Amino acid sequence: MFTDVPPITDTKRESNAISLRSVTKSYGPVTAVDDLTLDIRDGEFFSMLGPSGSGKTTVLRMIAGFERATAGQVLLDGRDVTDTAPFDRDVNTVFQDYALFPHLNVLDNVAYGLRVRKVSKRQRYERAREALATVRLEHLTARKPSQLSGGQRQRVALARSIVVQPKVLLLDEPLGALDLKLREQMQVELKQLQRDLGITFVFVTHDQEEALTLSDRVAVFNEGRVVQLGTPSEIYEQPRSPYVAQFVGTSNLFDSAASQRLFARTGTHALRPEKVSLYPAGNGHPTDSDGHVIRAVGTITESIYLGTGHRVHVRLEDGSPLVVLEQSKGAGAEHETRGDSVIASWSQLETAHRARSTRPSSQTGSSVS
Ligand code: ADP
Ligand code: MG
Repeated sequence: MFTDVPPITDTKRESNAISLRSVTKSYGPVTAVDDLTLDIRDGEFFSMLGPSGSGKTTVLRMIAGFERATAGQVLLDGRDVTDTAPFDRDVNTVFQDYALFPHLNVLDNVAYGLRVRKVSKRQRYERAREALATVRLEHLTARKPSQLSGGQRQRVALARSIVVQPKVLLLDEPLGALDLKLREQMQVELKQLQRDLGITFVFVTHDQEEALTLSDRVAVFNEGRVVQLGTPSEIYEQPRSPYVAQFVGTSNLFDSAASQRLFARTGTHALRPEKVSLYPAGNGHPTDSDGHVIRAVGTITESIYLGTGHRVHVRLEDGSPLVVLEQSKGAGAEHETRGDSVIASWSQLETAHRARSTRPSSQTGSSVS
C-alpha cells in the first residue's frame, strides 16, 4: 500500500501548523469571516487582534472544528481537516470563561481529557500533576473551581489544555477576566510556557499591548478580514492603513491637506505620540522645517497626568490636533499646562516612514501583507 505516502511537495508544508485557504463563514446575512487566507507557522506565538465582532472567535472555532466553514479549507499540519470532528484534531482550546467542571476538583478537571482518551488512572493523575506543576498549582489539587481565584482558575484551564499535549493551543481572550496586575503576570507565564512547550499558540485578544508584547506575529482583524499581518514592530512602526495605526496604539493622523501644510508632503501620515517633543515657544527655536526635524507651533488644550508622564493635547497653528506623550520629568519639574504656547518637534523620518507604507484610503483595510 503506497497510498498513504505523501507527495514530495507536502514537505514544504511542514512549517505551517495551520493553514486557512479562502475561508468564509456566514451566519445568514452576516459574514463573520470573509475569504480569509492565512498561514500560522509551527511553534510560533500567533495573535489575532481586533475589535469585538471582527471574527476572531469564529476563526478560532473553525480551527478547533466547533464551526464548519461556509467555504474554503482548514489545514492542520498540511492535512485538510475542514470536515474533521473537533476530537480528531490535534488542537486544544482555552475558552474565555475557562469552562471548568464545577463538581470536579482541580486534579480531576485537569485529568479529564486523559480519561476521555482512555489513559490509565495512574498515568493520568501523574500527567495531571505534572501539568499542574507547570502552572505552579500542584498544591491545590483537591480544591473545587469555586474555591479558586480568577488567576488560579485560569491556570487550571491552561493545565487542562496542555496535559493532552496538543500540537496547537487555541486561546480565546484567556486573560480578559483578570485584573491588570494578574494579567501582566499571566502574560509572562504564558510566554514562558509557550517557549518551554514549543507548541503553536494561537492567541485571540482585543488588547493591542497584549498582542504586541507576547507574539511572534500578529494578524490585525477588521470586519472578518486580516488587514495587516506582521511582527509586532512591523505592525506598530509601519501600520499600512489609518485603521491599523489607530487600533494598534494611538496615532496622530494627518490627512493629505494637513501633511501638505505641516511638512510639504501628500498622502495620509501617521505619527506616534511618543515620537514628538514639546518645547516652550518663544525662546529662540526656529519654527520652520529644518533638515530632518519638523517643528510646528501650537497651543496646549489639555494636559493629563498619567503617572509615568503626561498626555498632552495640542492644537497646531494650522488647526490640526496633535497628541503628545511626554515622559515624566520627575517630581517638582515644570510641565507645560493648558493655554501654553509650545513648539512641537519630531523627526521627518517618523512621518516619512509612513508615507511609504500608508496606502490611499480607497484601498485601506483590504489587503494582507
Ligand atoms: P470576535 O471574536 O472578533 O468578537 P466573533 O467571531 O465572535 O467576533 O463574531 C464575528 C461576527 O459574527 C459578529 O458580527 C457576530 O455577531 C457574528 N456571529 C458570531 N457567531 C454567530 C452565531 N452563532 N450566529 C450569528 N452570528 C454570529
Ligand atoms: Mg470573541
